[in-house]
Amino acid sequence: MNAIWQAALESIRSRVTGENFATYFEPLRFVGLDAGVLRLEVDDPFFGDWVRDHYTDLLRAAAAHAAGGELDVEIVVGAPAPLRQAIAVTGPVAEAPPEPRPAADDSQFPLNPFYRFENFVVGPSNQFAHAASESVANQPARAYNPLFIYGGTGLGKTHLLHAIAHRILERDPSQRVTYVSGEEFTNQVVKGISRQEMDKFRERYRAGCDVLLVDDVHVLAGRERTQEEFFYTFNALHAAQKQIVLTSDKFPQEIPGLEERLRSRFQWGLIADIKAPELETRVAILKRKAERDRIDLPDEIAFFLAQNIWRNVRALEGALIQLAAYASLTGRPLTQGLAREALRYLLESQDKALTVESIQKLVAEHFDVKVADLRGQRRHRVIAHPRSIAMYLCRKHTQASFPQIGERFGGKDHSTVIAAVRKVEKAIGSDPAVRNEVEALERKLPR
Ligand code: ADP
Ligand code: MG
Repeated sequence: MNAIWQAALESIRSRVTGENFATYFEPLRFVGLDAGVLRLEVDDPFFGDWVRDHYTDLLRAAAAHAAGGELDVEIVVGAPAPLRQAIAVTGPVAEAPPEPRPAADDSQFPLNPFYRFENFVVGPSNQFAHAASESVANQPARAYNPLFIYGGTGLGKTHLLHAIAHRILERDPSQRVTYVSGEEFTNQVVKGISRQEMDKFRERYRAGCDVLLVDDVHVLAGRERTQEEFFYTFNALHAAQKQIVLTSDKFPQEIPGLEERLRSRFQWGLIADIKAPELETRVAILKRKAERDRIDLPDEIAFFLAQNIWRNVRALEGALIQLAAYASLTGRPLTQGLAREALRYLLESQDKALTVESIQKLVAEHFDVKVADLRGQRRHRVIAHPRSIAMYLCRKHTQASFPQIGERFGGKDHSTVIAAVRKVEKAIGSDPAVRNEVEALERKLPR
């Protein structure tokens, strides 16, 4: 069964009753997925009509969620089961149809058609990474080499990497663009060694490659032989002036187990980070996504979602899809009450992950002071500075209000919190040391 369809089915399974699932979804057969249309087959025309009328929205939402972008769903009436089996036995007619955008050879990868620059919403949090990616895509190996993009999960690194590949291939289809995840690269090294095919491996990644895109390169850390192969690959491509783009969940200096020689090479070109998007950007991303998936999303719901889910764009998109499916299944309009109800679990788990207390603990450890001091009254800079930064981070990364933050910092007045937050905001703009400090802390926040 097709992986996207399978994932879509799984997400439907969690949203409908077992009986409904068995009645309406289990009988659907995957036929094919191409040109943005997921085709499903049923035996009975009446049944087909019924599913079409009642479940198209849900199917579309689940398919879009699974595929990471809008898909149309078409339900066709096929041959009855016995006949189908006969076809399957006799010949290739019933063979699985091709996947979308089949790879020409395995040095090409099925690019996600939605991960383009045009579909990437730019805001202050990702502006730099976006601009760097575009400039590399427009002038491979002339702008920055390598380009190293890092940021937390679900913030658009893979999206940008695919966008670079799309753009390079659009401008020059003869470019041999190799996209590989760090995980897959490791697998291929292992396979190459065990089958004594390292020559083939090297040909593929060195001579046979004009642009190398490695997603999640941090997973190479701690894998000695893979790092060694990657080191030589990197050197060969870099010397031949081939563009290299890497993504990682951390800044090179902060990847434990990464060899020094790779660490230094990762910093040869340009390093760009992606941060969690600001509220306005989150709202814009939601609206873009809703438009694409034809979900009617009232502004106040977009704001509600964006206010409550802030650290991960993937989670934000997932919440939208979930909400749309929930509304369509229950036949209720998209209201805030419905949103609250549908997203209860998601919101709870996110709230647990990042609290005022967890930020206090992190900041206290970072500056080597006591949490009690952060909550205390001492005004000495050694304490006051970490305290201000902790307040700033709480304001930015939790939903706590100024008075709530003051309360949890030992009962301080909200005006004290406001003053501290403003001071840090100003310092970030004028003092690189403070900015670096804050960014280092933000990278340590649990994602
Ligand atoms: P990462 O690789 O950093 O974990 P992804 O690139 O997989 O994250 O992004 C997760 C999802 O969020 C994708 O569906 C992607 O399209 C979407 N996304 C992330 N950032 C943006 C953005 N700025 N504009 C539009 N969509 C975004
Ligand atoms: Mg990714």
